[in-house]
Amino acid sequence: MATLNLTDPIFELLSKTASAKGINAFVIGGYVRDQLLNRGSKKDIDIVVEGSGIDFAKAIASAIGKDVKVHIFKNFGTAMIHTSDWELEFVGARKESYRLDSRKPIVEDGSLEEDQERRDFTINAMAIQLFPLTGEVIDPFGGISDLEKKIIRTPLDPDKTYSDDPLRMMRAIRFASQLNFQIDRSSLESMKRNAERLKIVSMERITDELNKIILSPKPSVGFKHLFDTGLLQQFFPEMVALQGIKVIKGKAHKDNFYHTLQVLDNICENTDSLWLRWAAILHDIAKPVTRRFEENHGWTFHGHEDRGAKMVPGIFKKLKLPLNDKMKYVQKLVMLHLRPIVLSKEIVTDSAVRRLLFEAGDDVDDLMTLCEADITSKNQEKVNKYLANFELVRQKLVELEEKDRLRNWQPPVTGMDIMATFDIKPGKEIGVLKTAIREAILDGQIPNSFEAAYQYMIAEAEVMGLTAKNILQSSISENED
Ligand code: ATP
Repeated sequence: MATLNLTDPIFELLSKTASAKGINAFVIGGYVRDQLLNRGSKKDIDIVVEGSGIDFAKAIASAIGKDVKVHIFKNFGTAMIHTSDWELEFVGARKESYRLDSRKPIVEDGSLEEDQERRDFTINAMAIQLFPLTGEVIDPFGGISDLEKKIIRTPLDPDKTYSDDPLRMMRAIRFASQLNFQIDRSSLESMKRNAERLKIVSMERITDELNKIILSPKPSVGFKHLFDTGLLQQFFPEMVALQGIKVIKGKAHKDNFYHTLQVLDNICENTDSLWLRWAAILHDIAKPVTRRFEENHGWTFHGHEDRGAKMVPGIFKKLKLPLNDKMKYVQKLVMLHLRPIVLSKEIVTDSAVRRLLFEAGDDVDDLMTLCEADITSKNQEKVNKYLANFELVRQKLVELEEKDRLRNWQPPVTGMDIMATFDIKPGKEIGVLKTAIREAILDGQIPNSFEAAYQYMIAEAEVMGLTAKNILQSSISENED
């Protein structure tokens, strides 16, 4: 029999109140699991009460102090208390039954044991009684043994657990990926049978679990399960389409699904950012739709970066991911992901690096991180060569940025400046001159300064038959320091 030593003063308070009120209450679920795993950082405690969770929450709040608020969710029969250290959630023990078309159960009052049965996994069903606080773990389904064996298993027949609430399939995979656990074989078989039931789950909840998988230390673990069980197909067929190898005339291309997973795992070693991880997932998303076999070249995926960037908004919308600057960021990285690779294969010219800085702006470091993760060749010589060249690109980026300040570039001469100088109205000459100035700066023909850009503009305009009517001064004195 396992016991846990719950030493934080909050447990003493919970225990005393349970005793004083004669209430049978238990700590249950994630807190018990994480304590047994020594994953100590968890700050939310789920408490299940044989009786009213809301009444117990009120008693706890007044025991903590008079300013403590109880947030009551009457419809769910739950209550929450936030203290400076803890988030306490209270619920009455319940028995659940399900209908076919909904993951919302019909709920009745129940015992602790019935409540444990409705939990998703054996490792999430363990409880500890609050009074007497012996620390003994009540573990009817072998959760401790599954923790030791690193196994995700359902307390009941998995067909029932998953069919009742199909979100649990996503949760199983999420826990497997977060904890690096195996999923019980009969669970995996059941998921294959129940995958289509995911359609009764809202996209927001699916994506919530998906993002947790993506933020786990090695997301490929989760994605392989999502793929093998048929769950991924239910909500992200574009990613499933990456899988597979085609051979024509003895020439094969790589499997882009497993390649993408390797890029994703690689990038996770260098970033915690959800959105950079999403960029890794989507960088080759348009390969299936751009794939061609060309007699002279073999397999090509021309324009997949462009097409991929165009697919990003649709995918974000469908997955209910935010359609804001995060999406634009992912789109930009997908769009530019080949650029440093092209650079790393050639002699790195200042002009090419300047153009990259100009287009990537502040995201250029993330772009480099993505490209480094994208090297998945098994030929170590090639890998070393690309990495060395990327290093060169990174050095040049720093040097050129110091010299030319091209990150988040703004034209040194504006359209207004052009109109004022030549006394002309808005028209296509302005665009032509602005482009000419930008190209001259990016090519390194002139420095990125008002003076140089202005002189260049006058010379270019003369060729176009425009003469300066007014001479402008830079609003910022360049000799100031
Ligand atoms: P984490 O905080 O890492 O997400 P957790 O286990 O605390 O882990 P919650 O979503 O907070 O996850 O759920 C708390 C507890 O409620 C779980 O441990 C589990 O016992 C139960 N639970 C949550 N969702 C479900 C579900 N869909 N079906 C059955 N039980 C569930």
